[in-house]
Amino acid sequence: MSQTRMTRQRALILEALHSVTSHPTADEIYGMVREKMPRISLGTVYRNLDLLSSSGEILCLERAGAQKHFDGDTSPHLHVRCKRCGRIGDVHAAPALPAFTPLSAGGFTIEDMEVEFTGLCDSCKDSRAC
Ligand code: ZN
Ligand code: MN
Repeated sequence: MSQTRMTRQRALILEALHSVTSHPTADEIYGMVREKMPRISLGTVYRNLDLLSSSGEILCLERAGAQKHFDGDTSPHLHVRCKRCGRIGDVHAAPALPAFTPLSAGGFTIEDMEVEFTGLCDSCKDSRAC
């Protein structure tokens, strides 16, 4: 596979991510990119998403037990995750002092703290299901 083709695939993936604010999963990005490049494979999409996240061009929003979501907006902002459907939204909040000061960490070296809000998205809040 030529470098040029890799670059075009990567550019399309980036463009797809920049065109939405929905924090899509790899499968959703695959669907978006396939409209413009019908023969792209899911593996190629995964590989390029990995590359783009390691280089810091996109954000990978990971949580144990949930599908990864991706964000083309790398500016500082926080996220809220819907407890029912897993959808992720942006939260713009004023910076505050850390809510927790670790007193002990049981054999871990703390490197970072990630804050994620949880709640219900508008469509889940309005639906009466379960
Ligand atoms: Zn929801
Ligand atoms: Mn975001």
